Amino acid sequence: MYLYVTNVTKYYTMIGQKNKELLCKLVKFKCEECKKIFKLEELEIHRIRRGNVGGTYEHRNCKVVCGDCHKLYHGNEQGIQGR
Ligand SMILES: [Zn+2]
Ligand SMILES: [Zn+2]
Repeated sequence: MYLYVTNVTKYYTMIGQKNKELLCKLVKFKCEECKKIFKLEELEIHRIRRGNVGGTYEHRNCKVVCGDCHKLYHGNEQGIQGR
């Protein structure tokens, strides 16, 4: 996960490692998109509501996805991904 270079707001904070771990455990390390099992390092947290519209890393706003599936969410976006 990377921070946007521009338009940095308080919502563009990275999810803490602990929170990520909790979310991954919650979904049993399964990508919510392709339903395959991954390692913690391979999973990424996608925010359904993006950071720039006030989306936060709460569970109801998060989707645990693998790197490949995550790219699909952001495939049409330019530049560094805020995820
Ligand atoms: Zn996946
Ligand atoms: Zn994302």
